Amino acid sequence: MKMLRINMIIVLMATLLQQCSYSQSNHSKPANMDSTEKKSPVYSNTDTSKVDISDTEWQKILPSDVYQVARLKGTERPWSSKFEKFNEVGTYYCAVCGNPLFKSDTKFESGCGWPSFYEPISKESIIYTPDHSHGMNRTEVQCGRCKSHLGHVFEDGPPPTGLRYCINGVVLDFAKAKKAEEDYNKSRQ
Ligand SMILES: [Zn+2]
Repeated sequence: MKMLRINMIIVLMATLLQQCSYSQSNHSKPANMDSTEKKSPVYSNTDTSKVDISDTEWQKILPSDVYQVARLKGTERPWSSKFEKFNEVGTYYCAVCGNPLFKSDTKFESGCGWPSFYEPISKESIIYTPDHSHGMNRTEVQCGRCKSHLGHVFEDGPPPTGLRYCINGVVLDFAKAKKAEEDYNKSRQ
């Protein structure tokens, strides 16, 4: 019973910390973290078909830390993600299904302890759901392809959107930008 209470306090503290507003800071330490491993049978950076797999199946497929956050809506410890202070140029994907979620140029240092972005890669990449848990009114963000829990979005982010997508790093995958991808993006500007 005592353990349960301690666990609840930790969850509450983590949730409250996620609410803090962002502050600008520039210290960063780039690292090479190109992700090449495939984590699930449905993992794809290009397939846009919806993924519908039961939680029981996900539990068998996903590493337990990813499963806890993605399927049980857990929150990783603040400042525990390798992506929290990470400034490589590239794309962030859903670690569960590979769906493209955020571009590195929309990432900013929020000072909250979780990787933060001000804009998703496209409208379809994210699903928004009202979340009234822990006595708070928040908006949950889920992966638009596999509905994995990613984090929450708050309205205290920087311009141009004023939004702060506060994302659990454990459900993110990162791939460095390739020359072709950069050229493609330039041609669309
Ligand atoms: Zn996904």
